[in-house]
Amino acid sequence: MIILFIGAQASGKGTQAKIIAKKKALAHICTGDLLRAATGEFRKEIDSYITKGKLVPDELILKLLKERMNQPDCKKGVILDGYPRNLRQAEELEKIEKVGKIFEIYISDETAKRRLMGRWNCKKCGIAYNIVTAPKPKKDGLCDNCSIPLYQRDDDTNEEAIEKRLSIYHEETEPILKKFKERVIKINGEQTIEKITEDILKKLG
Ligand code: ADP
Repeated sequence: MIILFIGAQASGKGTQAKIIAKKKALAHICTGDLLRAATGEFRKEIDSYITKGKLVPDELILKLLKERMNQPDCKKGVILDGYPRNLRQAEELEKIEKVGKIFEIYISDETAKRRLMGRWNCKKCGIAYNIVTAPKPKKDGLCDNCSIPLYQRDDDTNEEAIEKRLSIYHEETEPILKKFKERVIKINGEQTIEKITEDILKKLG
């Protein structure tokens, strides 16, 4: 069974997906991370889309997703974070496995932009910090877990890429929420991380 976490950029869906997957012993698949980790023939092509804030082609992401979902840890259930991003991807997903609950984590575009400016990530453990909001790292610029320097993603520091990603979210991703509205659970993403986790756990059962 697949649970979807859908939300605008910096809505906290990745943070929550990590926490909930751990608590519920589910696999967590972030398609953005899959793309950033991809090596080989598609590397340059992937970067050319991501840095401009565009979606990579559906066929490419679907191929990577299928490979990942074939791994044994996905048998126990999966939280998908960052897929689907358009109606076509949603249709393809339903051919692979049954989609259960869909969590929509909603925030305003203003909040998204403010959070994106302050987002710093750890390359090793994948945790996302936020120096504008929370969680802040204990030591400036260093990961609490790995003690290595944090980095900012190119697509988080480029204003045009941010605008593009938010407009794609509204135009292409939100229609998925309309189409599957009977399965959608709305979660207010403008609360503390702990409160959002609590709200999701209550609805997840
Ligand atoms: P964000 O949600 O903040 O944009 P992600 O790490 O989820 O960050 O995704 C980063 C980028 O990876 C996206 O802007 C897009 O270019 C690409 N990407 C991720 N998931 C998909 C997908 N399902 N389909 C196409 N492109 C994707």
